[in-house]
This record gives sequence, structure tokens and C-alpha cells, in this order.
Amino acid sequence: MQEAQQAFAHDEVPIGAVVAHKGRIIARAHNLVETLCDATAHAEMQAITAATNFIGGKYLPDCTLYVTVEPCPMCAAAMYWAQLGTLVYGATDEKRGYSLIAPKVLHPKTPVLSGILENECSVLMKQFFQKKREHK
Ligand SMILES: [Zn+2]
Repeated sequence: MQEAQQAFAHDEVPIGAVVAHKGRIIARAHNLVETLCDATAHAEMQAITAATNFIGGKYLPDCTLYVTVEPCPMCAAAMYWAQLGTLVYGATDEKRGYSLIAPKVLHPKTPVLSGILENECSVLMKQFFQKKREHK
């Protein structure tokens, strides 16, 4: 949530992600699409890269990735490639969420927990897009 709020403050779509390893946060990231002018700079992609840098290996089997909004298919695929241990997310993304578009893209054995702080996560998104509409 803190990372999502940072994204919000920088006029980025407010999505934040952290990666935990053995109860310790090893990577924190938020959406940087506007900042980096890179449509693939989603919070989860940044978090995976930071976590693998921290671990010093390309796989994250003992890690849990927490993200405020359901990952898109690209990020879910990245989690597959990184062999992520567990995925936890807040709000469902009813338009771009992987579970709707490509439910098989995440590794079938990856445990998924959803709906954690769902309301807080989705309210932040709604506030952001409302602000965007008002300022157009
Ligand atoms: Zn994504």
C-alpha cells in the first residue's frame, strides 16, 4: 500500500508490490510506466527484478510477492518464469487481470491468495482514475 501511494504521488497508476523472503522484505517497487516511459514497467516487474538482484539468482521459489492489484498476464508470466513461490494480491482487476485473460499463465502450483486489503487497494485505484478524469 505504501508503494502504491508513492506511485499515486508521482502520478503513476497506484500499484505497489513487495517481495518477501523468509519473513523479510527484499524488494519494494511501484508502477513506473510514466517515469520510465516504459509500458512494461509494472510494479511486479520491478519487484521481481529487484528481488532476483537481491537473491543473486533468477528464481524466487522461496519468495512471496505481494501486490495491491491482481497482476496482468505479462506479470503473471514473469512470475512463472521466476518460479515465484507464492502470490498475494489485493484488488481484482476485472479488465486486465490474468485470471480473466490467461488463468493458465501463472504456474498451476503457485499458491495464490487474493482479496487481502481489497477495499483499500481498489479505493486507491478509483481515486486515481477519478482524479485523472477531473483534470482532463
Ligand atoms: Zn503487469
